[in-house]
Amino acid sequence: MSVAVRLRPMNSMELECKSSTAVKRTPDGLPHVSVDFHESFAFNYVFDQRDTQKDLFEACVQTRLKRLLQGFDVTILAYGQKGCGKTYTMGTDFNGVMDDKVGLIPRAVHYLFQYISTLKKSYTFRVSCSFVKIYQEELFDLLLPRNNLSSRLAGPGLTELEVSSAQEVTDHLMRGFAKRAVGEKPSESHSILTLTLVARKLGGGGPTSETTTKLNFVDLAASGCWIFGNDADRSKGGLVALGNVLNTLAYGEIAPEYIPYGQSLLTSLLQDSLGGRSIRLLIACVSSSDANVSETMRTLRFADRTLPVMKKPGLRLDQRLRLVSRLKDIIQQLSGELLRAIQAVAKPDDRQRLEDRAKNLEKKNLKLHQELEQILIDTADADVRGGILAKHIVQSKTHVRRIMTMLGLQRQQEPGPQSVQSEGNQLLQTLVELNRIVSDTTGQLRARDNLYLQTHSQQSWQQFNNGGGDFGLEANAAGPEDHVSTQQQGNDEYYYDSA
Ligand code: ADP
Ligand code: MG
Repeated sequence: MSVAVRLRPMNSMELECKSSTAVKRTPDGLPHVSVDFHESFAFNYVFDQRDTQKDLFEACVQTRLKRLLQGFDVTILAYGQKGCGKTYTMGTDFNGVMDDKVGLIPRAVHYLFQYISTLKKSYTFRVSCSFVKIYQEELFDLLLPRNNLSSRLAGPGLTELEVSSAQEVTDHLMRGFAKRAVGEKPSESHSILTLTLVARKLGGGGPTSETTTKLNFVDLAASGCWIFGNDADRSKGGLVALGNVLNTLAYGEIAPEYIPYGQSLLTSLLQDSLGGRSIRLLIACVSSSDANVSETMRTLRFADRTLPVMKKPGLRLDQRLRLVSRLKDIIQQLSGELLRAIQAVAKPDDRQRLEDRAKNLEKKNLKLHQELEQILIDTADADVRGGILAKHIVQSKTHVRRIMTMLGLQRQQEPGPQSVQSEGNQLLQTLVELNRIVSDTTGQLRARDNLYLQTHSQQSWQQFNNGGGDFGLEANAAGPEDHVSTQQQGNDEYYYDSA
């Protein structure tokens, strides 16, 4: 996998708005892009406004085409925000005139036919062409000759037209491109032009003498948040899936069953040409203007994630080490998953045992839940009762204090009348009684908390006791909430400590 970034020149709107250049190729001559001078990315190629279509073709496409004859599939994808030059770069919108502005597809097919013509002495070639569009997870055949519109494909049976010259291919391209635009916005669909090349070595005759390879040009749907709604999610789905596939491939040799090709039509269709023996080139098309910086960053990050980890150009040792440790994490995660999977398909009697254990645990869990619920209800009841009592205690204390004051005042003047003294004594009696009820209630609360905590953790209770639940009269008089919060704090601390 290689990644090229192409910075397109500012368009008339950006020029009108007097946008400034925020995304640049770094001046050191390396294929690096800097964004707003503080973030930089390293890729395999970077092209900017000064680079022509020919420059791009010669630098990163031409040599890859020769690899088709060595048995490799070649897939070239253009990714990016709407209007950033995917179609222009690919040349999907070819108008039949081979001028400087012509994009990759017409250049590549001309080059390919020219190249194979030089090999005619030792090979025979059969080339066929197909052209499809994917819109909202539906496949449309853009080369069906029967009608003017593209047709939905119910299953296999894609039109593959045999071609013997570059012009035939570009004619099909032009016809198909006109159909791509019918019905909905072309920027919301992916288009894939595929050339299948069957090369037979002359004089060989053995079963290995025929090689079939594919060359795919993928003009992707626009990335970015300008698409909204369910339909948009579906068309974006292909891009998300593509990102997942390329990202997974970037992590090296992974068994094909772990690569999420099945997540979208786009990735299933390209499955053979993305993994294994394939040469991939992603061209990330971005605007250089500061008006699009956030979208440009998204595109660059997407492109960056598709680069093979250990081959990322310009990575320093510490960055590599960080990547290695990330890989280790992934491996550990996968090992865990594997272990669980193995457990799930363990021997039948093992499985029975595991299932029984799971059921048992589930029952225990349910019982604990029920107990806990009851305890919480009880505690809440006791809390309410405790709260009412505490309020009474405070009121009584005030009464007593007032009576005592009255008694004291009277004693200064004359010996207190018997009635007042007895009233005071009665109140004191009530106070003692109230005090007893409060103590009982707090005792109950404490016992239930104890049970609750014991059910959950012996250590938490220890912590709770150490943390101090002062159940003296004053503490309760202040309100039952204090008591509850002390307990929670105790628990929290315990869990934080053990974490
Ligand atoms: P996309 O396919 O990404 O939506 P297009 O390829 O249609 O974008 O490009 C939008 C416009 O910008 C077109 O008019 C195209 O000609 C122009 N354009 C894009 N890239 C370049 C470039 N590198 N040089 C000159 N013009 C460009
Ligand atoms: Mg386009």
